[in-house]
Amino acid sequence: MNGFEVTEVTALLALVSVALFIIGLKRLSRVRTARSGNALMAAGMLVAIVLTLVEIGLVDYRWIIGGVVIGAAIGMLTVIRAQATQMPEIVARFNGFGGAASALVAVSLFWGVVVESDATSTTAELLGGTSAVTLVISILIGASTLSGSILAELKLRGTLSGAPRVPLRTAVMGLFAIGALVVGLVAVLAIDAPVTAATLIIVLLVLAALVGIVLVLPIGGADMPVVISLLNSLSGLAAAATGFALGNNLLIIAGTIVGAAGLILTQIMCVAMNRSLVNVIAGGYGEGGDVEHGEYGNVVSSDPESAAMVLEAAQSVIIVPGYGLAAARAQNAAHDLAKALIARGVQVRFGIHPVAGRMPGHMNVVLAEAEVPYELLHEMDAINGEFPQTDVAIVVGANDVVNPAATEDPTGPIGGMPILEVEQARRVFVIKRSLSPGYAGIKNVLFERDNTVMLYGDAKDVLSELASEVANAR
Ligand code: NDP
Repeated sequence: MNGFEVTEVTALLALVSVALFIIGLKRLSRVRTARSGNALMAAGMLVAIVLTLVEIGLVDYRWIIGGVVIGAAIGMLTVIRAQATQMPEIVARFNGFGGAASALVAVSLFWGVVVESDATSTTAELLGGTSAVTLVISILIGASTLSGSILAELKLRGTLSGAPRVPLRTAVMGLFAIGALVVGLVAVLAIDAPVTAATLIIVLLVLAALVGIVLVLPIGGADMPVVISLLNSLSGLAAAATGFALGNNLLIIAGTIVGAAGLILTQIMCVAMNRSLVNVIAGGYGEGGDVEHGEYGNVVSSDPESAAMVLEAAQSVIIVPGYGLAAARAQNAAHDLAKALIARGVQVRFGIHPVAGRMPGHMNVVLAEAEVPYELLHEMDAINGEFPQTDVAIVVGANDVVNPAATEDPTGPIGGMPILEVEQARRVFVIKRSLSPGYAGIKNVLFERDNTVMLYGDAKDVLSELASEVANAR
């Protein structure tokens, strides 16, 4: 091969793949370059897959092709049938699939080498100490990521509501995690009877699944975004552990990148929510118990025509999108309103809360789809000081992220979470269909404030009406 050995070519390709991951990741950190960053990382993954297939050339390709076809079909069907609003649930599910894949590969490695060989040696003797120990870690993290992600998906979908308390949660979770680790290590380091070792691995799987359940079950309100990014990180760490067990460098690198990126995202979410990761895992906040819908007094409502007259007289407007904007697919209508106001010389900005919506970056993705210029989007910390000088804040399908209860009730489900301080604007319009609560399930005292006016209705309908009223005003 022109003086090159196959191993040299594969090593070079592995380097190309890693370089693509790293450059892609760097480009993901800026909105403008994120799309090409994603494409570069996908190309890196393609190189990695082809390389792995070449390296393990002894494997029957029919099994691999069968797996790829079935997996791709499930993935495509999931995405084609899904509504855009189901994206967060799908992300949670795919995190779980990542964990499941890692755990399954580790179990199949154990099965193929230990159980089927029927030898009277320990897993560590057959596979080597590092592989045996990382195999246990991979199963532990992978299975807990799977069960935790399934619960997270059910919570995001609303199938499972509330955040039931688990008595002595931290102790129970610690007990399951340590138990799982001990059982797994005994299975691979001390047991030389395949059937006994396999039984212990099954116990490890069950205990690991319980860790994921106890981790996510009591989480609600402001802590869900943190847990979702943590699960994302864990799916990467499980893959890295599997890479160590298999001795596959590319899997170690790809898994570590996902794990590290997820951990950074988790840290960003923690800072945004004013939480520490230890605090979230130990369950100090966010264990909502029963939701409190609350009774409202003094709520004023109006209609788009009257609201448009106020907007026409305004000089500055901040639009605050939330989950309801994504649910109503109202991003184009929001952009139309912004354009109509800008055409009248009004200063228009969008205020973005880091956990608005149901997945990290949800609002940025949705507004980018409607081609709202990036310059109009302002992060919470940058825009909060602007509300007192702003004529009108328009809250579109946002609820928890503008709820003053976050500061007024420090022990509540969103207690301590920084909010977009819309109530400081001269006038606040809140567009939503009713007084129903948001994700955290609590009353929003913003709706009772003297400067707040409710515009009831579907976000897309109300925004479209506002946009056409403003555009047609003389
Ligand atoms: P919220 O969930 O607090 O509120 C959304 C509001 O949108 C609801 O009160 C609902 O009111 C309204 N709404 C729903 N559909 C429509 C529609 N078609 N038209 C108009 N309004 C509509 O959203 P926020 O974005 O304010 O807050 C996000 C919450 O989700 C936070 O509690 C956060 O912790 C949590 N979370 C965030 C995640 C993330 O990563 N971003 C992940 C998991 C949870 P009504 O029914 O009256 O219309």
